[in-house]
Amino acid sequence: MLTLRGVCKSYDAEIAVGPLDLRLLPRGRTLLVGPSGSGKSTLLRLCAGLIAPDAGELLVAGEPLRRTELTDFRRRLGYVIQEGGLFPHLRAARNVTLVARELGWSAARRRERLSELAELVQLPPALLERYPHELSGGQRQRVALMRALMLGPELLLLDEPLGALDPLTRRRLQDELLSLLEQLRCTVLMVTHDLGEALYLGEQLVVLHQGRIAQADTPAAVLADPAEGFVADFVAAALPRQLPASPVSPVS
Ligand code: ADP
Ligand code: MG
Repeated sequence: MLTLRGVCKSYDAEIAVGPLDLRLLPRGRTLLVGPSGSGKSTLLRLCAGLIAPDAGELLVAGEPLRRTELTDFRRRLGYVIQEGGLFPHLRAARNVTLVARELGWSAARRRERLSELAELVQLPPALLERYPHELSGGQRQRVALMRALMLGPELLLLDEPLGALDPLTRRRLQDELLSLLEQLRCTVLMVTHDLGEALYLGEQLVVLHQGRIAQADTPAAVLADPAEGFVADFVAAALPRQLPASPVSPVS
């Protein structure tokens, strides 16, 4: 659905992203990994049309995206920004339905979609009456996901949607997210700094290094055959360390 061709974005003469070429898997899951500062969030903002590339272009279904088509394009995508980005002064339900209201959806249609989504992300509907600060981290992530899914997007952009969660909750949400994304079958571009998560969820894995694509391939191919030293180091760093030998001898 979305292809980037020669896309480049700099801030203050420093290249944040690019030049890069990337084709998202139509109706599939592309997982984006890379160290902090490698340009992952900038790449998502480019894909969301929130910032314009300095060079290169976005192709939607093979056609260059024109500035005049941006508003329409933005309505066809769902975007969960890093940290979720819920409005703190609005209840969860209002956060989710904000854009639908602006688009003139009736109250009945909004209510119906809201309960459909709550079921989809397995959020108890009563929690939708709460403000974001009255929800747990995992519940807020679900609400942010509901907001991104409200209009039934063709393209879903997720920026570390499971960041800042304890490992147990994170693992459970990874399972739920995978089954959710398999049901939706929309085109997904998801950022994570966790290689294990990317290997588990990804059909295409993109490793970003200093704004450049170091490798884009299936997760299995990246693991088996790292394209360059950086990818090999990135993979090695994600493996568990050997535990230090216990200084105390075990009680027999
Ligand atoms: P990541 O999400 O991989 O941690 P980012 O895309 O946030 O990385 O940032 C990539 C680079 O671009 C960093 O060097 C960052 O400082 C820079 N950058 C990102 N956004 C801005 C901005 N709005 N203004 C100036 N520099 C930015
Ligand atoms: Mg980021």
